[in-house]
Amino acid sequence: MQHKGLLIVLSGFSGAGKGTLVKKLISTYDHFSLSVSMTTRAPREGEVNGREYFFVSKEEFEDTIQRDGLIEHANYCGNYYGTPRAYVEQEMEKGKDVILEIEIQGALQIKKKFSESLLLFVTPPNSEELERRLVGRGTETKEVIAKRLARATEESKGVEAYDYIVINDDLTKCVEEVHNLVEAARMTPLRQREFLTQIQEELKKYQKVEE
Ligand code: ADP
Ligand code: 5GP
Repeated sequence: MQHKGLLIVLSGFSGAGKGTLVKKLISTYDHFSLSVSMTTRAPREGEVNGREYFFVSKEEFEDTIQRDGLIEHANYCGNYYGTPRAYVEQEMEKGKDVILEIEIQGALQIKKKFSESLLLFVTPPNSEELERRLVGRGTETKEVIAKRLARATEESKGVEAYDYIVINDDLTKCVEEVHNLVEAARMTPLRQREFLTQIQEELKKYQKVEE
């Protein structure tokens, strides 16, 4: 029997290590696939169309929404971001666990539409470490870093909507933890409906004896 893969949402403060974690998850386990989002924001230096994002115009983005081509979308800091439907459906049908690295508005839409999705919130062990990582990454100016840290306070208030908090301290341990959470999530009754229906059907043959 072909099992459909899980839809996994990964959110977290900017600088928490989401990108690093996802890269390692994908290179360590071959059951994960990463969804590439569509955005109207301009590419940063080094970003490649189709790899980091599909960079599109506002018109193209709105047209994709109209065609129901996105499973969720949000406006974040003045730009649109969204998850293309086709890739997610195709990978899940193959049995892959598809990772969406998205912010909270999108995460909440996913939970509403796909009750079996798994929502993970990634955080460093403490705020000083978050600042150290953002500064250490060296991709943003001091001002942008200050904005992202300020935004983290707001983001921390939405964490209760998630299924699990993942503390990214030791990266290798964190990768293993996410893998374990996914394996455990797969075994909940909600995500084993097909199996449950099957065994419930099979068990009916014993009912006559009981009566
Ligand atoms: P995000 O995608 O959440 O914004 P990144 O993956 O870009 O974060 O990570 C931010 C910085 O923190 C990078 O310089 C990365 O190398 C570093 N980093 C990520 N995970 C860890 C970790 N477990 N320990 C120490 N540094 C980390
Ligand atoms: P950035 O511009 O730094 O690449 O991303 C900004 C924010 O948008 C991040 O929190 C990122 O996780 C989020 N994001 C990226 N892609 C998507 C998407 O498809 N949908 C939503 N809702 N958020 C996204």
